[in-house]
This record gives sequence, structure tokens and C-alpha cells, in this order.
Amino acid sequence: MSRRTKKPDAEARRQRAIQRIGRDNAACPICGENDPRCLQLHHIAGRRYGDELAPICANDHCRLSDMQIDHPDAIGEKLNNIERIAHFLLGLADLLELAIAKLREFPKYLIADIAPHYPAARSDMP
Ligand SMILES: [Zn+2]
Repeated sequence: MSRRTKKPDAEARRQRAIQRIGRDNAACPICGENDPRCLQLHHIAGRRYGDELAPICANDHCRLSDMQIDHPDAIGEKLNNIERIAHFLLGLADLLELAIAKLREFPKYLIADIAPHYPAARSDMP
């Protein structure tokens, strides 16, 4: 007979994810993903430079963490507040950069979705 513990059901896993994120209604500010199982807490400035967290989907979290690799290295052993603020602003700029890229894509999908419902523009009209 197996001595394995009972697996948590889907709702228990969802509740655990909500607890990990710290709130029930979180959504990725870049793509809108709101399934708590897909959200992770991202250190906006980078783990070393600050504790400000944002719920970000796993894919966008991966992109943002990769972008942080290009941020400047620490100036010295001891961090100062100006350096922390600078890294927070860099992280915020990364987040906005991804959000703006999504914002530029979205209208194209809207237009592509609605275009088939309208007759093609007539070439003989002024
Ligand atoms: Zn996302």
C-alpha cells in the first residue's frame, strides 16, 4: 500500500498561489494574466536593490529578470539610497518597456479581428 500523501486539489493549489502572491485579484501589468498559478513576485529593482514586488506572469518575469542582467553592477559593497532608487527606476523602465510593446501590438489584433466584418474599401471611391 502506498504511503504517499494526498495531492492538493486544483482549488487548494489556486489558494496556495493566491497566498504566495499575497492577494486574490492580482494580474500581470504587462499582459493581464490573472491566473494566480501563473503569477510570480518580481523584485522591480532587483533582489539586491530593493524589496518592492510586483506580481508578474512567469513569461514576463523571465523577460524582466533577463533585462536586469544589463543593469549596472553595484558601485561598492555597501548600497546607498541613490543607487537603490536608480535600480528601481531601471526596473520600472523595463516593466514599462514591455507594457508599451504589448500596448503597440494590441490595436493590430483589434483591427485584424474586426476587418473581416467590413467590406473592403472601394478603389473607385474618392
Ligand atoms: Zn505577463
